[in-house]
Amino acid sequence: RLDIRNLTRRYGGRAVVDDVSLSVMPGQVTCLLGPSGCGKSTTLRMIAGVETQDSGVVLVDGQPISDGVRNLPPEQRQIGLMFQDFALFPHLSVADNVGFGLKGPRAEVRARVEEMLARVDLGRFIDAWPHELSGGEQQRVALARALAPRPRIMLMDEPFSGLDNRLRDGIRDETLDVLKEAGTAVLLVTHEPEEAMRMADEIALMRDGRIVQMGAPYNIYNAPVDREAVAFFSDIN
Ligand code: ATP
Ligand code: MG
Repeated sequence: RLDIRNLTRRYGGRAVVDDVSLSVMPGQVTCLLGPSGCGKSTTLRMIAGVETQDSGVVLVDGQPISDGVRNLPPEQRQIGLMFQDFALFPHLSVADNVGFGLKGPRAEVRARVEEMLARVDLGRFIDAWPHELSGGEQQRVALARALAPRPRIMLMDEPFSGLDNRLRDGIRDETLDVLKEAGTAVLLVTHEPEEAMRMADEIALMRDGRIVQMGAPYNIYNAPVDREAVAFFSDIN
């Protein structure tokens, strides 16, 4: 499980992430939902370890991995990342992309790569090059790559925003299936209420660096905390 406690990050005196606390349980999806600029990506970057907090603690399975003073480097955090602009390596085959973060004997790596590509229904592309795949197929390869090392925690920052509606639904469902099956704790960032309603077990509504409301999607949708939250949810159809 992932816990963050009182995470704060300032830029030029302004707290862009301000005392944020939340937990994500294994096999659950928590959505960090809020308008552009509210501090979602900065929060994820601190959890991933590519940005350092001014204060607050990040814990994985109850163990502190970062408190702003002692910080585990990103590659040692066993946290999977999937970002919108996380492109495949163009000079590597699909197989080598998926196997990129894997250690161990070649045969084992190959078997895991085959397993993950089968999971996203792209086994036939194992020896293809990224440019031979459609955008949606590349996204599924990126998903396979992110999941191949079996991260216990997965951070996703608007991972579906480049896709058309039809593809997006399929990939969202597939992503949820794979993550739930693996028991991964998922923190998913989005600025679209509709996406959070579809994907989340719990929504953390963020505004101006703070979490203003937290709860099950149904509860947040039916009882938004204030007028601004009502307005934010009002364009769901
Ligand atoms: P979006 O939905 O548009 O991606 P976001 O919620 O992910 O927005 P962040 O990227 O976390 O927002 O940025 C939060 C605020 O912090 C913004 O006002 C941004 O300009 C500011 N910010 C982010 N990174 C830096 C930086 N390195 N230096 C100064 N300000 C920054
Ligand atoms: Mg962002």
